[in-house]
Amino acid sequence: MQNARYKKTKRTDPHGPLVFQTATLGPASARSEERVVPAPADLGSGMVRVPEGGEISLRVLLEEVSEGVLVTASAAAPLIGECSRCLDEFRSSTEVTFSELFVASADDAGEDGYLLDGDLLDLEPALRDALVLELPLSPLCSADCAGLCGICGVRLADADPGHWHEPDAGVWSALKDFFPAGHDRPGAEAGDTRSAGDESGNGSSRAGTTDPGGTKER
Ligand SMILES: [Zn+2]
Ligand SMILES: [Zn+2]
Repeated sequence: MQNARYKKTKRTDPHGPLVFQTATLGPASARSEERVVPAPADLGSGMVRVPEGGEISLRVLLEEVSEGVLVTASAAAPLIGECSRCLDEFRSSTEVTFSELFVASADDAGEDGYLLDGDLLDLEPALRDALVLELPLSPLCSADCAGLCGICGVRLADADPGHWHEPDAGVWSALKDFFPAGHDRPGAEAGDTRSAGDESGNGSSRAGTTDPGGTKER
């Protein structure tokens, strides 16, 4: 009962696209169903998701067992994602298969169990969990995506073959000027100067905002 999953669960809509009727299952019987359902919102993880309303093809086997209903489902879904190397949007698809027990009583559900709502079985939470596990954390538009140029940021797949940059002598000579040889503790001096400046700055701003009452106290 303490499980967040149960608290989130609102009244199950018997006509919900991912809701299955289990009343017609007899003891120790099974039924299979195929459906094409629109994807619910926010189905996916950070960089890759099933587009809302995208068609999910479901094949579901419902089996009556003593504690409830055992569901074995496979779902094929379109994906839209952002390539973690080149940041381009890409489309692909995925297929997951999962098997979960939906129990009739919350006492049997345990920490991560799924609960029947009377005769109704809402597959959505189990489908979400299975899909999110399946989706890659670092999705790629293609397995051999070359990513972006580390210097100019151009997408290498769009750049000329052999795209490269002359080593920039200007940058390196400028850095040498910034850290002259033999100057081995630039941090200490810079820090001292900065904190002294901050103190005087704060002091004057404090004086500037002092109200008449504060002036009297002093
Ligand atoms: Zn890519
Ligand atoms: Zn470049």
